[in-house]
Amino acid sequence: MLSQSVENFLKAIYDLQKGDQWVATSALAERLKQKPASATNMVQRLARTEGQLVEYVPYQGVRLTDTGTKVALEIIRHHRLIELYLTQALGLPWDRVHDEAEKLEHVISEELEDRMAAALTDTRFDPHGSPIPTKDGHIKKNDAILLADVPVEASVRIVEVHDHDARLLRYLGDLGLYPGAAFTVIGREPFSHALQIQFGDRRLHLGEDALAHIWVTITISAVPVAGTPAQELP
Ligand SMILES: [Zn+2]
Repeated sequence: MLSQSVENFLKAIYDLQKGDQWVATSALAERLKQKPASATNMVQRLARTEGQLVEYVPYQGVRLTDTGTKVALEIIRHHRLIELYLTQALGLPWDRVHDEAEKLEHVISEELEDRMAAALTDTRFDPHGSPIPTKDGHIKKNDAILLADVPVEASVRIVEVHDHDARLLRYLGDLGLYPGAAFTVIGREPFSHALQIQFGDRRLHLGEDALAHIWVTITISAVPVAGTPAQELP
């Protein structure tokens, strides 16, 4: 049995790690809202003791071993499955489930996990659009780009929304901007990074904070040259 703080460490490293690259302990400390020195201590302790979950190289950083990755994916499966169960089976709104899942992910049994999964019809994605790892530890990461990086005139579909900011989720939910929602980027506000979008018959403005937490897939790319028809993507 791993402690809750060890599980949160592994989850944070998984989040920050791109492929098999090293994660700087300073970045990890920032993510976990800890002092750099205490994050480094924890990493050193983990690398030495807890059954080889992480590799640590001073001045290089930390990364998960195969065992550590498996454990991280197991916690992420718990987290996302709980979020899905709370919305689908218990009717909680999508902005209220993350905080509950942060607590419950550490304590549910394998049996409860299996029963929650069995009670749901589709367990591929959580309510925020994040892929749920399979029981045997596989995850198919979303192929998506940040809305902030989408060119004007492109049509997009929301793939995933970052789950940490309840206020943003409530705001987007009120507008109907859930995963699966489709809209067109029609303009960029001068002197800011805000975007104007056309969503159904509504014209909306999305500020910088929102754009940095929404991942989309482009369904119709922007017209590259005036007069060339927009290209339809599969
Ligand atoms: Zn969450």
